[in-house]
Amino acid sequence: MINQSQRNIISIMDEKDSSQWQNWKWHIKHRIRTVKQFEDLTRITLDETHKIQLEQTLSKFPMSITPYYLSLIVTEDYKNDPIFKQSFPSIQELEINCNEMSDPLHEDKDSPVPGITHRYPDRVLFLVSNMCSMYCRHCTRKRKVGDIDFIPDKDTLEKGIEYIRNTPVIRDVLLSGGDPFMLSDDYLDWILSELSKIDHVEVIRIGTRMPVVLPYRITPNLIEILKKYHPIWINTHFNHPRELTKASKKSLRMMADAGIPLGNQSVLLSGVNDCPRIIKSLVHKLVANRVRPYYLYQCDLSEGLQHFRTPVGKGIEILESLIGHTSGFCVPTYVIDAPGGGGKIPVMPNYLISWSTNKVILRNYEGVITSYKEPDSYEQTFCDRKCDKCDLQLHLEEGIEHSIGIEKLLADHDATVSLIPEGNLRMNRRNDED
Ligand SMILES: *Cc1c(COP(=O)(O)O)cnc(C)c1O
Repeated sequence: MINQSQRNIISIMDEKDSSQWQNWKWHIKHRIRTVKQFEDLTRITLDETHKIQLEQTLSKFPMSITPYYLSLIVTEDYKNDPIFKQSFPSIQELEINCNEMSDPLHEDKDSPVPGITHRYPDRVLFLVSNMCSMYCRHCTRKRKVGDIDFIPDKDTLEKGIEYIRNTPVIRDVLLSGGDPFMLSDDYLDWILSELSKIDHVEVIRIGTRMPVVLPYRITPNLIEILKKYHPIWINTHFNHPRELTKASKKSLRMMADAGIPLGNQSVLLSGVNDCPRIIKSLVHKLVANRVRPYYLYQCDLSEGLQHFRTPVGKGIEILESLIGHTSGFCVPTYVIDAPGGGGKIPVMPNYLISWSTNKVILRNYEGVITSYKEPDSYEQTFCDRKCDKCDLQLHLEEGIEHSIGIEKLLADHDATVSLIPEGNLRMNRRNDED
């Protein structure tokens, strides 16, 4: 069942019982947290000055690697290894660029109660744990992870649940952290049961990296719990095709067989996966394991991540290599999470080249330029949002939805002509004249 490098690790750890390898709690207990442990287990020797520098990184951003994830490092070429780069600290993490922030997405500012980020109209992010089995070096929430491993108590979580209960517009709750699967089965069961009792909560989503860094966490008991609360959607976080091992594929199979739709959120990382061929191989492996590539994230402006960041052009180049070249459902949406809390902004290559009043000019992935003739006549219906009187026979039970943003500018029923940034000087001058 286990391979040579896993056997080595387990024997160096002086564990007599190699069946422990499949026990997720054993991995949590034996997480690699010091450079010395790392050296002993991998037989890699780092030079002394480097080690002293690394201590500084570790005092700010601690390390935690599961023995499982460690066993995936190809030690002969560890410096270029994507698993090593995602899990082992770098002295570059201490270089804080002036554009970087500890909370670039303003998750703490958009937080009505501790643990909840309510940014979008109909869904919330609910941080139920600040613990992870492996600390990704590229974590966007480095500010939270690792200072003290901590799982909020029931009272704290109850306040978050209370907020969701009292906010009927929330139809989608996204459990994240930290990793929600660091919670015990019973605790998770309690949170899911409380959320599923709320009528307006239509779906629960869980974001977890366990299938990548500790696939043994996906146990039959956990699956039994999740199955009780459908619809549950799970997003995981594979960044490199090498992470799709036998064990990780098995964990995906267990979740897919339980009827859980699976998605994947990758982060574009310099030196790890900033290559069209690597991403193509990754998305192919994901869909072959019933995981739909959901987002490809531009690396956030969190402190100490500069060495991981690529230009946005790299992401566009990667999408250009996917769209049309491979199955549509292999293509993730490439997003930049707006610094300051504006949310995820999709970024795409341009396919619409030009247009006139009756034709649009498009180009495809091969470079073919084509024209699409618009209809000669199109009966414009003026939409006053009185849906009960509309010919389209849309019989919705839901109440009035309020338009915002560009949708509002496009709407017939709203008189807004422009959106003006707050504090616009020209507008302030006008007010002064009034
Ligand atoms: C990403 C995110 C969501 C979910 O966004 P989707 O585009 O629906 O996946 C919700 N809330 C916050 C704060 C987020 O960052």
